[in-house]
Amino acid sequence: MARPQAPAYDKHVKIRPRPVKGRFQTLRKTAVVVLLLIFHALPFFQWNGRQAIWFDLANRRFYIFDLNIWPQDFILLTFILLGLALVLFFVTALLGRVWCGYACPQTVYTEVFLWIEEAVEGNRSEQLKLVRAPWSFNKIVKRVAKYGAWILVGLITGIGFVAYFYPIRQLIPDFFTGSLPLMGYFWILFYGGFCYMQAGIMREKFCKFMCPYARFQGAMFDRDTLIIAYDEERGEPRRRLKRKDRENPEDLGFCVDCTMCVQVCPTGIDIRDGLQLECIACALCIDACDGMMDQIGAPRGLIRYTSTKSLEGGTTRFLRPKTFGYGLVLSVAFTLFIFAIVTKSNVDLSIVRDRNVLSREIAGDQIQNIYNVNIMNKTERARSYVLSVSGIEGAVIDGKTEYDVGAAQVEDQTIRVNIPKASLSMPSQEILFTVTPDDDADDAVSIESKFLKL
Ligand code: SF4
Ligand code: SF4
Repeated sequence: MARPQAPAYDKHVKIRPRPVKGRFQTLRKTAVVVLLLIFHALPFFQWNGRQAIWFDLANRRFYIFDLNIWPQDFILLTFILLGLALVLFFVTALLGRVWCGYACPQTVYTEVFLWIEEAVEGNRSEQLKLVRAPWSFNKIVKRVAKYGAWILVGLITGIGFVAYFYPIRQLIPDFFTGSLPLMGYFWILFYGGFCYMQAGIMREKFCKFMCPYARFQGAMFDRDTLIIAYDEERGEPRRRLKRKDRENPEDLGFCVDCTMCVQVCPTGIDIRDGLQLECIACALCIDACDGMMDQIGAPRGLIRYTSTKSLEGGTTRFLRPKTFGYGLVLSVAFTLFIFAIVTKSNVDLSIVRDRNVLSREIAGDQIQNIYNVNIMNKTERARSYVLSVSGIEGAVIDGKTEYDVGAAQVEDQTIRVNIPKASLSMPSQEILFTVTPDDDADDAVSIESKFLKL
């Protein structure tokens, strides 16, 4: 007889976590509000007469307060991204998935969408009742209100995101008057739709099946990493909340099998089955269990922040080779970043030899080469520069040597350099171009090129 086959795909049952009150939920709510405020308020800050944080893709320039990153400075952006990754590694090794539980955008927006769902449809049992109820005017109104509010949050999020690329003071009027470029509308809708999908529809499925961090964070865990765990020693064997059981606590564990920890879990897992990939360390099961422990007069902490080592009776070590290593690499990256900022030049010079005219002889027994010069003023004020040549005796620029370059502008020029034939001993010689701002000689930049004899 053929064996019945297990279905390849399980129909997903939507998780409707039960709301919970407690210190960690308060912390999460605070984190959500603070992070959203930061995200939406930052674009309104002005700095040097422009948006303080502005990724100006059209002109390929990124502004982060005083830091002005040009394509030539992308090493700085690399340091920033590397630093953020290292901070994540360091925090994960030390505190486990604290990022997932409190600060990940997926967590933050899911929390907002859940608040809306609860405000419109009521608590968990009212929501379930509404799902089972036949379509009625009341059900339609609630659904329209919920999805409408979600779409609104998605749109605000989309605008908040695009505001980092298109100044917000221009974005808001342009958005409402229909004068925003088509790509602006596209990205607002795209990012708003993405937010709606992730926080309204996908929710925990994103953490379970799509998040790459959830997959590799295990590599950063060790026996000292902070995790949220159920203390089997204290909890088992489980008991029901009956008076007779409470009178013999020595025979039974403290877990009353109320399943509150499962009902509040946004990913729908049972932490009593051990540490699982799906656990986002939101700590809501701690709040739920602490509440139950208070009710039965048992000590809190049956589910708590701990480490594998501590659960086995040892002492958690926060300072250990792994955290020390991440800390060290982080400090080195931070030092290099600061060094790169301090030594970053405010002017950039590029010299390209004219390929059409290799070299020519001119009057006065001189050789002339032609170059295309590119002076980039990376500051946010207009500056004047003096261009000079050196490295070969008698080298002079035949033409303009002083340039006024506007704030964050580039000056392109074609210049001629003349050198007496007698100074050229080889077919090709190094020549040094220097551009010097007239208000700060220390900011001068030099670049080498070749000068060709005939
Ligand atoms: S909330 Fe606490 S007492 Fe209730 S089932 Fe979970 S672990 Fe047991
Ligand atoms: S098991 Fe606890 S900490 Fe983990 S996701 Fe569920 S409620 Fe949050």
